[in-house]
Amino acid sequence: MTTQHLPTHTDVLIVGAGPAGLTLAASLTLLGIEHVIIESKPAPAPGSKAAAIQPRSLEYLARIGVSDVLIDDGLRGGGFAVVDRDRSLIRMSYDSIASPFPFLLLISQQQTEVRLGERLNELGGNVFRSVRLIGLQDEFPGSAATVVDEHGFAHVINARYVVGCDGIYSTVRRLSGLEFPGDAPAALFALADAEIGTSTGDLDTTFSFSDHGMLITSALPGGLIRVVAAVPEGTPAPGLSDVAELLRTRAGAWANDVRVTSLANSSTYRVQQRVAATLRNGNVFLVGDAAHTHSPAGGQGMNTGMQDAANLAWKLRHAVDGRAAEQVLDSYDAERRPVAQGLIAFTAQLMQLATIVEPHLAALRNETLCAAAAVPGVTDWLANKLSQLDIGYSHPRDSLAGTRLDPQIVQPRGLSWTLVLPDGAPVPDVPSDFTVTTSANVDRPVAVRPDGIAADRELVARLFGGVLDIDGSTASATT
Ligand SMILES: Cc1cc2nc3c(=O)[nH]c(=O)nc-3n(C[C@H](O)[C@H](O)[C@H](O)COP(=O)(O)OP(=O)(O)OC[C@H]3O[C@@H](n4cnc5c(N)ncnc54)[C@H](O)[C@@H]3O)c2cc1C
Repeated sequence: MTTQHLPTHTDVLIVGAGPAGLTLAASLTLLGIEHVIIESKPAPAPGSKAAAIQPRSLEYLARIGVSDVLIDDGLRGGGFAVVDRDRSLIRMSYDSIASPFPFLLLISQQQTEVRLGERLNELGGNVFRSVRLIGLQDEFPGSAATVVDEHGFAHVINARYVVGCDGIYSTVRRLSGLEFPGDAPAALFALADAEIGTSTGDLDTTFSFSDHGMLITSALPGGLIRVVAAVPEGTPAPGLSDVAELLRTRAGAWANDVRVTSLANSSTYRVQQRVAATLRNGNVFLVGDAAHTHSPAGGQGMNTGMQDAANLAWKLRHAVDGRAAEQVLDSYDAERRPVAQGLIAFTAQLMQLATIVEPHLAALRNETLCAAAAVPGVTDWLANKLSQLDIGYSHPRDSLAGTRLDPQIVQPRGLSWTLVLPDGAPVPDVPSDFTVTTSANVDRPVAVRPDGIAADRELVARLFGGVLDIDGSTASATT
């Protein structure tokens, strides 16, 4: 798409076509919301960065119609294992989690972006590539965004809402004057996607502890293995022999004879732990790494960004159609910022455990993990947490509101709302936003948001008041 067709007005301007921006753009296209998505790069960046899609993200990606193709492209990982060389300490299996997707999908971020982009095109949307945001000014009732195209020409796009999906160094965040407090722990990681000529046959993502430091290994499609290792300051991006050495000294016996035949990519990176002071400032929103960044341990970052997009998309839709009051838009920050803060605490703890080198402490850690693994329910609880199925938003007066409903109960269709009725309950006339289903697993009507979360009564009244009433025991059409 050439930039001469760049619109001058839009309801939503999305800046950045990484996984978060593409998820938001595909969602808004499906919801029929006019938007423009710009991306400074000409194509999805090579290199894999995130190497896994969590079940919770797959549940949303299924709603926007892109999970099947991603699953076909990827490998079904079994979950996470923690070992000390050849000693198994604890294993968090995804086999029995309550999701239609009981696996960790191993797939490169680049391929995820390609498939999301294709889905966006199929739905009728497109990314304006080689277009960079350089300025943002308030202009009632939205913002005037100045962008530069690949020829260096400036254009102004007037947008009612602007969403910064533009990554850790977000221009939207900077131009909006939003703080990004946090820290950058003094820890360097080497990362490589390597071909090792032979399959390990292991589809767990494995944290290996050793006297030489921490190593994470994970299979990727195409016979590749992802290798991430804590390395001393000043270490350059690993070459073939460095990756072989990391495997030999830090992994189990399986890696002793491994021959690293080529590297698809290799780099070093430094972790930052930050959350933006607010994820909403008037008509400007931050999503994904623009809003939060943390250690990639546990494969959470990209997934959290896609779920931010899931949380925001339907709220923007109702804001554009005039139904969502300010509180609905405010709930994006109220719901998602605590999730990001919790994630930083969780991934920081994972990294602390993984990078212990002092022998006594390492032995204590290992014994504690083994003991935890033997306690019934602990590994399932951890698998639920890592797969992000436990993420919800508590509600003061309703224990169900804010929680995720298993899609096997809800049977979602696209990004419609779902009214789940107890088996045998009378079916009212519902607004066209809803699909209706029945389930033996609910004892009262439940309205489920397009992001799979049970809505509270106030929200239903705010958005559909006068049309649908859910009074706790029955659902009824009120017009
Ligand atoms: C080495 C590494 C390994 C990782 N491993 C994992 C993992 O295993 N699991 C996981 O979940 N996460 C992982 N992550 C994190 C994951 O890569 C990020 O969380 C994810 O890329 C964030 O997606 P995003 O869409 O928010 O931002 P990004 O992917 O950063 O996308 C932002 C986009 O905005 C564009 N952009 C920036 N500025 C502008 C501008 N002014 N105008 C227009 N466009 C702009 C950029 O070109 C970019 O394409 C890893 C990250 C790294 C670095």
